[in-house]
Amino acid sequence: MTPLPPPDAESGQLLPIPDPAESARLLAAVSAAADEAAGQAFRSGFVALIGRPNVGKSTLLNQLVGEKVAITSPVAQTTRNRLRAILTTAAAQLVLLDTPGIHKPHHLLGERLVKTARSTIGDVDVVLLLVDGSQPAGRGDGYIVDLLRHCRVPVHVALNKHDLVDPAQAEDLLASYHQLLEGRGDFATPTPPGQDPQPPLAWPLHPVSALTGDGTADLVEALSAALPPGPPLYPPDAVSDQPEQLLMAELIREQVLRHTREEVPHSVAVSIDRVVDDGPRTAVLATVLVERSSQKGILIGKGGQMLRTIGSGARQQMEKVFSGPVYLELFVKVVPGWRRNAARLAELGYRGD
Ligand code: GDP
Ligand code: MG
Repeated sequence: MTPLPPPDAESGQLLPIPDPAESARLLAAVSAAADEAAGQAFRSGFVALIGRPNVGKSTLLNQLVGEKVAITSPVAQTTRNRLRAILTTAAAQLVLLDTPGIHKPHHLLGERLVKTARSTIGDVDVVLLLVDGSQPAGRGDGYIVDLLRHCRVPVHVALNKHDLVDPAQAEDLLASYHQLLEGRGDFATPTPPGQDPQPPLAWPLHPVSALTGDGTADLVEALSAALPPGPPLYPPDAVSDQPEQLLMAELIREQVLRHTREEVPHSVAVSIDRVVDDGPRTAVLATVLVERSSQKGILIGKGGQMLRTIGSGARQQMEKVFSGPVYLELFVKVVPGWRRNAARLAELGYRGD
């Protein structure tokens, strides 16, 4: 495959790293909602999601940000990038980072995992450690807790699968996690004299069910409160900044440029509107944005021939990159002057739904 051109100002990517002016605009866009937060400062930042396989990380991401993130997970596994899921509430924007490697049991003891986890942990504002709270704390949990013990940012622990917990056993289970976290030195604060012998945990525990959503609102609130004040980092309606989506857009744009050459110059942007994991294949709906209707005509071609050629070329590239069948549906839309105001793209509704 030909290497992709580096992203540039012309690329029309819909989730660029916003500049300060853009951030200010986004902040204004959510200000109405932020007012509801009773004058409290908007908060934003990065949350690392850490946990053993099968504890429910994907399910939790889905529960928090909706189906769109989960459906692209087969793609996320083929790349080695972190999955970012974005959750914007009236009070905060959480950018959730899933860590690769930690999914794979055979990496669990590997140096790579340690490095990945450490570097992720080093970059974030909050760590969310997810455990299977329907099972007593085990050695695998201890391993991750050890990884996190020198962590300098707040750590919150979600005891997931609370829906499976028999109320009669709830106390014992909770005790096993208290025991796990206790005595790990750095984070267990000493018991004030004359108080409960159980040291208060510096890592708050949150029983949740990623499946039913029980407890997740409180969890989000606690995580939000742990973030620093700051403007949203991504558009409020974004659910993911997955590199996969940008890559898909670039693959399509590459085909447009290859087949139309200078007839449709740089005034092309590609919006990935929807990615649906449709059983064995991935369905991608995308829109090519152009500035003039003459360009639209060229892109569609006689009887739609050009668009078919572009679509089929892009589909083949995607199938190589994401190693699986892809169904690609392309639309063309004229948006006069979109280049002069790329920030408006999100507002214009190109994010799908
Ligand atoms: P991950 O490997 O950490 O991403 O875990 P997944 O999100 O793939 O979940 C692993 C399994 O646990 C799946 O079968 C989920 O349906 C199940 N699961 C996740 N969260 C919950 C929960 O809160 N309650 C119950 N009962 N099952 C859950
Ligand atoms: Mg998963």
